[in-house]
Amino acid sequence: MPDENRDAFIPLSVPSISGQEWTYVKECLDTGWVSSVGSYVDDFEQKFSEVHNDRKSVALASGTASLHLALKVAGVSKGDLVVTSALSFIAPANAVAYLGADPVFIDCELPYYQMNVDLLERYLEDECVLRDGELIDKVLDRRIAALLPVHHLGHPVEIDRIAEIGLKYGIPVVEDASESIGARYGGRLVGTFGDSACYSFNGNKLITAGAGGMYLSNSDEAAKQVKHLSTQAKCDPIEYDHDEIGYNYRLNNVSAAIGLAQLERLDDYIGKKCAIASRYSEGLDSVQGIYPMRESGNCDSVWWMYTVRVDSKQTAINSRETLRQLSEVGVQSRPIWKPLSDLDLFRFGSRLGTPVARQCYEQCLSIPCSVGLLEHEQDRVIDSLVRMLSR
Ligand SMILES: *Cc1c(COP(=O)(O)O)cnc(C)c1O
Repeated sequence: MPDENRDAFIPLSVPSISGQEWTYVKECLDTGWVSSVGSYVDDFEQKFSEVHNDRKSVALASGTASLHLALKVAGVSKGDLVVTSALSFIAPANAVAYLGADPVFIDCELPYYQMNVDLLERYLEDECVLRDGELIDKVLDRRIAALLPVHHLGHPVEIDRIAEIGLKYGIPVVEDASESIGARYGGRLVGTFGDSACYSFNGNKLITAGAGGMYLSNSDEAAKQVKHLSTQAKCDPIEYDHDEIGYNYRLNNVSAAIGLAQLERLDDYIGKKCAIASRYSEGLDSVQGIYPMRESGNCDSVWWMYTVRVDSKQTAINSRETLRQLSEVGVQSRPIWKPLSDLDLFRFGSRLGTPVARQCYEQCLSIPCSVGLLEHEQDRVIDSLVRMLSR
């Protein structure tokens, strides 16, 4: 290995541009179709639907925009409650807040970092009551308008149970699959269990469109409504006639071109992520105090963001000191999210307590896992971690 590569910076996660991206984008530029209408938007949606059991797809400007409209179309409105994950990126909770509703946070489980569905069930059973066909939080006297489970870090949440709970209480289920496109629960793709699902194509996701999102639904009517709302709720192709407050949430054709090229590589990328995960597992499983990521028996994870838990009672240093020392040797790592229930912003939704989320926040680090990560780079990450953490 040449010397200059030995200490080269290893980023946490960067996109891999290795398919038809150049060809498709060049066509957009050559033809002038660079804005929010164009064949790649249609092709991207169609291919996305094909991949997802022919559910309806609507391409949008971001994953957050998709969450906003999915919740709106599911009927969430001012004063409602939406049940979601405590240990999560902030986008789903923000989308709830955009509608004047409040999130209620459920703690996560270990070792998979997903919403603890036992706690979800207990909350709905014990703390809520059915009144006139609606499930009401007894303490807050407010309606549960939707369940918003997130498939975290590339691994499915127990979505079949959540879908059943939604049916039992008549509450719509919106899946946030932004981090887990292509993952399977019991062989079935995430995003196809709930009433609708949301995806992100931000630069750090498994596939990217530069920026972008997708709304997926089992209902033609809901998909039509989302499309309408995303285009300023314009009713007529020619006249500027609008029937409600809409949004400019469309995806542009250039981003869709990149997204389509990436989607065509999805299976290949998932294969690479799985290979990275099993090498990490091999290299780190036997180290005292390091808990590598795992996959539940009935799930196929896509291992989006490889994360380890560092129990500093058993290791030489804690997670944040590890982050600092890794950075000194050119290896980028990152903590996972501060529990949303611990943000002042969302104190309101935090009465249930989320001790496991807080433990994960303190102990977890995501480590380099780009689709293009080379084996010698991964070996450097593993060697560094073993050296730093072993007592
Ligand atoms: C990235 C992400 C989003 C938001 O996606 P954007 O495209 O950045 O708006 C939503 N939910 C989760 C869980 C995410 O990780």
